[in-house]
Amino acid sequence: MINVTKTFLPPQEEYQAILKRAWDAGWLTNRGVLVRELEAKLKAYLGVSNILATTNGTLPLQIAIKALGLSGEIITTPFSYVATTSSIVWEGCTPVFVDIHPEYLTIDETKIEAAITSKTSAILATHVFGNPCHVEAIQVIADKYNLKVIYDGAHAFGVTYKGQSLFNYGDISTCSFHATKVFHTGEGGALFCKSSAQLKKLLYCHNFGHDGPENFLGLGINAKISELQGAMGLAVLPYMKAILEARKAVADMYDDAFHGKALQKLKLRDDTQWNYGYYPVVFKSEAALLKVKKALEAEQIFARRYFFPGLNHLPYLKKLKFEVSDIVSTRILCLPMFHDLQKKELEKITSIVLHII
Ligand SMILES: *Cc1c(COP(=O)(O)O)cnc(C)c1O
Repeated sequence: MINVTKTFLPPQEEYQAILKRAWDAGWLTNRGVLVRELEAKLKAYLGVSNILATTNGTLPLQIAIKALGLSGEIITTPFSYVATTSSIVWEGCTPVFVDIHPEYLTIDETKIEAAITSKTSAILATHVFGNPCHVEAIQVIADKYNLKVIYDGAHAFGVTYKGQSLFNYGDISTCSFHATKVFHTGEGGALFCKSSAQLKKLLYCHNFGHDGPENFLGLGINAKISELQGAMGLAVLPYMKAILEARKAVADMYDDAFHGKALQKLKLRDDTQWNYGYYPVVFKSEAALLKVKKALEAEQIFARRYFFPGLNHLPYLKKLKFEVSDIVSTRILCLPMFHDLQKKELEKITSIVLHII
């Protein structure tokens, strides 16, 4: 069986050797040595100034909305994972969707201004598949209308844009370290921000509002990452170079196989160093996609419809149509993409796809 993704598992004895340090300390959570070491190592690896590791990649979105004091309407993309939208709704704000760019698949920055009202407080956009949003144009709009900017960078681990971490853009960025993501801690995630004052706020927000055992600075929730997750991160991180190289090799093989064929691939923004997190292809019709998906499944190969349905079709939201996102979300399929996808397996996948299109 070949799945759309496969979790990288470090050698078990390496994970256990790191875990032993938690046993020795008798300490499993509340920012122990392993989590703090993981944060320090990620800070250096990613080249970010402030990081707070968390227990998943969804709570950071909610915490960002809360910490920035947002209310009213938040402009966002309909083409992302449900957590991007559900976090806005969960925090009592209203998502206002803006259509996506047909090739980059990120929010179409040229359509943002038309969606701004007196109630707009922020833009929450996704670097979908690790492809950077047009961060400069979005910042210009945010500055003009006095809006905050949050980036859902769940897919953006290790991506650099114009020579620096993509997490350095916006007021707050987030990442997911879920087992299906490029870098993982089983479940996990992180918040990134610009100042140490902001980091302090995020820190108390993620720990019930505590500032010391008997003091509360404000409202908080529990988004703490455990030492067990920290140990996994420390065990996986040394393999990132090899993981990214292996993923690149897979992407290159797909690219070669699909070269010149009638299949739309993700267009990366210029000046981007990508992480090869996903291999999405857009078909000419939903019928073609369904045919391919079925043919792959007959061979025990499971591609995934990321992201379908579009978030504008969530049952708890008012139905609205978006020309580009509605087309892309019905015709896009993520093909299997992971570090040890074999050449033979990949050839099977590409031959099935090419046979049908
Ligand atoms: C995975 C993902 C999340 C949520 O991350 P979790 O770690 O699973 O909570 C949020 N946004 C996007 C775009 C994602 O793909």
